[in-house]
Amino acid sequence: MIIQPKTRGFICTTAHPDGCAKQIEEQVNYIKAQKKISGPANVLVLGASTGYGLASRIAAAFGAGANTIGVFFDRPAEGSRTASAGWYNSAALEQQAAAQGLKSHSIVGDAFSDAIKAQTIALIQAEYGTVDLVIYSVASPRRTHPVTGETFSSVIKPLGTAYTNKTMNFHTGEVSMTSIEPATEEELRQTIAVMGGEDWKMWIDQLSEAGVLAKGATTVAYSYIGPEITHAIYREGTIGKAKNHLEQTAKELNSQLAAEGGRAFVSVNKALVTQSSSAIPVVPLYISALYRVMKDKELHENCIEQMYRLFAEHLYPEGAAPALDGSLIRIDDWEMREDVQTEVMKRWEALSTDNVSELSDLEGYRRDFFQLFGFQSEGIDYEAESDPDVEILNLVKE
Ligand code: NAD
Repeated sequence: MIIQPKTRGFICTTAHPDGCAKQIEEQVNYIKAQKKISGPANVLVLGASTGYGLASRIAAAFGAGANTIGVFFDRPAEGSRTASAGWYNSAALEQQAAAQGLKSHSIVGDAFSDAIKAQTIALIQAEYGTVDLVIYSVASPRRTHPVTGETFSSVIKPLGTAYTNKTMNFHTGEVSMTSIEPATEEELRQTIAVMGGEDWKMWIDQLSEAGVLAKGATTVAYSYIGPEITHAIYREGTIGKAKNHLEQTAKELNSQLAAEGGRAFVSVNKALVTQSSSAIPVVPLYISALYRVMKDKELHENCIEQMYRLFAEHLYPEGAAPALDGSLIRIDDWEMREDVQTEVMKRWEALSTDNVSELSDLEGYRRDFFQLFGFQSEGIDYEAESDPDVEILNLVKE
């Protein structure tokens, strides 16, 4: 069938298999062109099909020659409905890994559930023995607790008082003011349950109890801090509290793993267009302005460049790793550079519908958004027939 983008707000309900494969190929080629990363050997990536988790898996596999297991929540094509982008990404990644002779498996299902944890552990026991790196990159609007059965929903809201700032409809380029009412205590509790560190710790505890976590293993989860203008909605809002919980969990896991020489980190990453970040009010406009400034200063990075730096410079450096910021790895250092932020803020003040294309990288934002779903990839004929039914090699079936 001929596959075109169909957007509904900040989601695209279709995805293009060939375009997604092209995106994977470009990320793999980027990593292969860099200096080899010295470690890890067997890697488990939770939330491995898009955004930072996908880039982590590519960096590990093609940068370090690691065997990888990816766990993600995606759907195959059905009838006239295409598969989700993460499905096509993972299919392409498995193909590339096989071509490279790398051992690789994919597990599709709810990472929050005990069933998927058990399935993953059984796979590690059967095929890998142990894993020496666990990346936690799950981003989800909901989580069902495996013990209580309660389903939590996360919200992105300020705390205490309403937050008003500029936002953008990136499809139309319209800049307007938005006001978001503060979260209730209950909404905060649920957001921490979804995006805090509880599930990460459950994974590490269960892997450890099953004896499939290698001695000296490393685990990393991702966080964001960002500029003052987004603090009320992000860092000091519901999601920020969940990130505080994640960071606290890293400290606990670090003490737990240290007994065997292991380590747990939170890496603070740069703001980038992903399916998760495009859902946050205000952030797409900030990202557009940031892209413009970082591209002008030749500092721009995508997920893959960020993940290469994380692996090569921080997790598996040849010499000493840069000092932690407290307990955090900071690869948002270029985004947060004073000259970058000063310029972004100057533009922020002036941004309006009339000048958004000039002051920000609206075009770049839109392209990145469509590329998340395999559209606007170079060299793909989008008028040509494409088969939406794509199988994932090495998909572990229940
Ligand atoms: P994303 O939406 O691109 O990826 C989320 C991944 O989680 C996908 O692979 C998806 O399949 C998987 N997933 C969702 N629900 C799942 C479930 N129930 N079971 C298994 N897998 C599930 O998100 P992202 O932006 O790459 O975010 C990943 C992490 O990076 C998050 O912690 C986020 O806060 C952090 N981060 C993002 C940014 C940014 O700007 N995008 C910046 C800094 C940090």
